[in-house]
This record gives sequence, C-alpha cells and structure tokens, in this order.
Amino acid sequence: MSPFKTPVATSADSRDHRGAWCNHLPFGIIPDIMDIVILLGAPGSGKGTVAAALAGRGGSFNHVSTGELLRAAVAKGTPAGVEAKSYMDSGSLVPDAVVAQMVKDVVDAASGDAATMLLDGFPRNLAQAEILEKMGAPVKKAVLIDVPDGIIQDRIAGRRTCPKCKAGYHVKNLPPKVEGVCDKCGAQLTVRKDDNPETVRDRLAVYHRETEPLVAFYENKGLLARIDGTRGVEATCKAFVEAAGLK
Ligand code: ADP
Ligand code: ZN
Repeated sequence: MSPFKTPVATSADSRDHRGAWCNHLPFGIIPDIMDIVILLGAPGSGKGTVAAALAGRGGSFNHVSTGELLRAAVAKGTPAGVEAKSYMDSGSLVPDAVVAQMVKDVVDAASGDAATMLLDGFPRNLAQAEILEKMGAPVKKAVLIDVPDGIIQDRIAGRRTCPKCKAGYHVKNLPPKVEGVCDKCGAQLTVRKDDNPETVRDRLAVYHRETEPLVAFYENKGLLARIDGTRGVEATCKAFVEAAGLK
C-alpha cells in the first residue's frame, strides 16, 4: 500500500464553521517534524496530477487538496459542504474559516507522522497564508507550477475525474485505457461542475487577483521555486521533486 494518504473530510464538518476559530489558535500546533510544501499554480496547472503521480511512486508524504476535501464535504452534504457549494459552483473562493478548519483537522490527524505534507489549494489568498503562519506551519518551500492562461482553458476542457476514487485524467494528455472509464476502479469518468468555460474564466480571474500575490509573498521569504508546468507529467514531476527538495 502506498504510504501516501488522501485525507477524507473529517468530523469537523459537523461543526459550526462561522466562528473565526483562527483568532483563538494556539501557536505551534503543527509539530516541527512535519515539513510543509505548498503547491502554487492556476487551476489546471497540474497540482493534483503531480501530487497523484508522486504518490504512485510511494513517496513518504501526505497530499492535502482542499478542493478534494470540499468536494467530499459537498457530496456528503455536511454543513461545511452546504456552505461551500455555491461558492465552488460559481468559481469563487469558499470563506477562509471553512477551508482553514478543514486543513487544521487534517494536519492534526496527521501530526503523528514524520512526513512532508503537500498542500494543494491552500493557502489561496494572503489571509489564508497568514492563518497558516499562525498555525506555526514550518513551510519548507512553495513551488509554483507555471502555466500560461492560454493553455489552461484547453487543459481544463479535456479534464475528466473519477467520482469514486478521485483519479484525474485528460482526454488527450492523460487518457484512460478505455474511453470514459477509470483505469483504477472502473467507474464512469465525469466532468467537474466548475470545469465549464465560463466558470474557468472566473476561476482564472480569482487566481490572478487572490492567489497570485502569494508568489511574491513566498518569494520575499526566500521560499519560492518556479517550475515550468507546460511539459509532460513526467518532466513536471521531476522538476517538482528537485524544486521541493523531496527524496
Ligand atoms: P482548481 O485548482 O482546479 O481550481 P480545486 O479543486 O483546487 O480546483 O478547487 C475547486 C474550488 O474549491 C475552488 O474554485 C474554490 O471554490 C474552492 N477552494 C479550494 N481550495 C480553497 C481555498 N483554500 N480557499 C477557498 N476556496 C477554496
Ligand atoms: Zn476511479
């Protein structure tokens, strides 16, 4: 079994997320033994694909995708999911407190493991980066997977996802063996609800406005690495492993 874990939504989903819990956070809740590597990049830049490909090779790290956590919460109909749904469908950001609570729960659950945590989709704005700092997160590196907007629309148009095991595919770049069917579990592949061209345009605008400032934020801290995300999955993974200092 791969040591790589994809966390599922946790018990926190049943809590009330409207309280600004982050104001009451004790410092240093994230143990020093854990390294955090942040994946930065536009929607469709390949953050999830890189993380999944590395997992397949059995690296000793956890992959935390806030998009996945949120979609699981929506599917389950938890209070967090109910709150998140309309934001996600329209391509805007889910309120910081909802997402931060999910990340905190996953980090808490993994805190016994001496591992690298790949954070995919969090932080997504400066406020979230500050929340992560308040958690005492030992960020080792922030790796930007650089892909121009012109390529993104095409990539997302061909994206297919397995609703059951969450494996990601692309009709041209990463096709399943049998069209429309998941290689891993045999389920019918689906198109994500927010992957239509209009919503993708909105998500890209949100990315440039809200998330891109994080590039300068981590650059100023000397933690940023940039890699070219326009090449194949293999080359991107290799560049990522080097940039993030993973083994
Ligand atoms: P992508 O990176 O392809 O846009 P994700 O799966 O990471 O897709 O995210 C999908 C949606 O989930 C986002 O458009 C947003 O609504 C929500 N989301 C994910 N992570 C966050 C976050 N850190 N803060 C706020 N909203 C988030
Ligand atoms: Zn599957």
